[in-house]
Amino acid sequence: MTAIAHALGRRAATALRRYSHPRIILRSPSAAFVAGSSRSLSSANPRHHVIVDNYYVPSPPPSPPPPQRKSQRTDIVDVDDVIRNPNDVIDRNARYVDERARSMSGITSEVRHDWTRSEIAEIYSLPFHELMYRASTVHRMYWDPSEVQQCTLLSIKTGGCTEDCSYCSQSVRHKTFVKPTPTMKVREVLEAAARAKEAGSTRFCMGAAWRELGNKKNAFGHILEMVRGVNAMGLEVCCTLGMLDADQARQLKAAGLTAYNHNLDTSPEHYPNVITTRTYQDRLETIANVRDAGISVCCGGILGLGEKESDRVGLLHVLATMPEHPESVPINALVAVEGTPLGDAAASGGDDAPEGIADVDAFDMARMIATARIVMPRTMVRLSAGRLSFTDAEQFLMFQAGANSIFNGDKLLTTDNPKFDADAALFEKLGFVGKPAHAGPRVAPSEVSGTVEITKVRGTEEGRLYV
Ligand code: SF4
Repeated sequence: MTAIAHALGRRAATALRRYSHPRIILRSPSAAFVAGSSRSLSSANPRHHVIVDNYYVPSPPPSPPPPQRKSQRTDIVDVDDVIRNPNDVIDRNARYVDERARSMSGITSEVRHDWTRSEIAEIYSLPFHELMYRASTVHRMYWDPSEVQQCTLLSIKTGGCTEDCSYCSQSVRHKTFVKPTPTMKVREVLEAAARAKEAGSTRFCMGAAWRELGNKKNAFGHILEMVRGVNAMGLEVCCTLGMLDADQARQLKAAGLTAYNHNLDTSPEHYPNVITTRTYQDRLETIANVRDAGISVCCGGILGLGEKESDRVGLLHVLATMPEHPESVPINALVAVEGTPLGDAAASGGDDAPEGIADVDAFDMARMIATARIVMPRTMVRLSAGRLSFTDAEQFLMFQAGANSIFNGDKLLTTDNPKFDADAALFEKLGFVGKPAHAGPRVAPSEVSGTVEITKVRGTEEGRLYV
C-alpha cells in the first residue's frame, strides 16, 4: 500500500486508502481507471496511473441520525411502549419467583442467597477480562444496560455527628472543614429537589448527620413532611438518617419513602477498625426494620478504608446472603478528607503509611462492581462517591462491570461530585438514558427478544423440576 501511495498523486492515494479492498488488482502504472466506470483516479498526474479492477466504489454510508439530546431521550423512556418491570422491588422479585436460572453467551446466572464466601472470593479473583465478560453478560441478562438511574443526594443536616466513623468529615470527633449547620427548612429541601428533577434526577436522597433518628420528634416531623413533598413532586424519595426503629420505618413508608440508605461500609471483621460507636449488628437491625416496613433497602460500602480484598469479599457475602438482596448497592471510593483519621493516614505518605487507605483505582472499583453484579444480579449497583477522581473512560469501565446508577449533583453530602452538566454530557457520550421516577426498570432487551434462556422451577421444593 505504501508503494502504491508513492506511485499515486496525493489525492488519488488518499482515495485508494479510503476505499482499499482485498479485490483491488493493480494492472498498469500507465493509466488509472475504475473498472466499469472508466473514472480516472489521478488525472492530475498522468505519470502515476494504475488500473484498478473489480473495484466497487461504495456509496457513502447514510448519515447517522443526529444525536438525541438527553431531554428527548428522557421523553422516550416515558412512553408506554417500553416494557418495564414493577418499580416496587417486592413486586418485581415476585414476577420472577418461579425462575431458576438465566443463560446467555455461555454464562449462567441465578439469584441465590446461599453464596459461600469462598464462591464469592473465586468470582472476585477471576482474571479481570473474564470477570468483566461475565459481569457484563449477567448485566445484559437482567437489565437494559442503556438505562442508568440518576439520584441526587442532599445533606439536610450537616456535621455535628457524635459517631466516630473514621472516614467521615461530619463527625464532631474529627477536625475537618465541615461546620455544623442546623437542619434545612422543608421549603429549602423541596427547592433543591425541584432543581435535581429539572436536571434529570429521578430519585432524591436526603441525608442527616446523626447516629440515629431516636427521639428527635420535631426533626422527624419535618422529615416526614419533606418525604411527602418530594414524593408529591413525582420523585422517588430516599433517606439516610442513621439507625431507625421499626415504628419509624413504618411512618416513613406511610409518608411515601421509596428507599432507605444504610451502608455496612466493609466486612464484619474490618468494621471495628473503622467505627467503634455502633456495631455491625446495629446496622443489620436497621436494615431489617427498613426491609420489614416494605421500604427498598439501599446498602453498600466504601473501598479504601484500609481493608484487604478479603474484606471486600466479606462485605459482598453479607449483602448477597440477606433474606432479600438490597434493591441497590452503592459502591463508594473513599474521598480522603483532611482531619479525619483515614484522611490524615492517607496524607501521611511514606513507607509507614497504612496500606489500602484511599488507594482505590478504577480496576478495584470495576472488580467490586462486577462481583456485586454477578452475586446479586437483580440489584441496582450504584456508582457513588469518588467519581470525580475517575475519568469518563474509567467510569465507562464501571458501567460495563454492571453499575446502573449514579449520584449526580455538585456535592455528595460534603464532598465534591461531578456537576449535572458533566453527567449529562457523559450520558450523551455513552448513549445512556435515565430511569424515570416511579417506573420500574426496563425489562432486559435480551429477555424481550428471547436471547436469554430462562429456566423455570415447577413443583415443590422437594420435587423440583426445571423446564
Ligand atoms: S458517617 Fe454518618 S454516622 Fe458516621 S460520623 Fe458521618 S454522619 Fe455520623
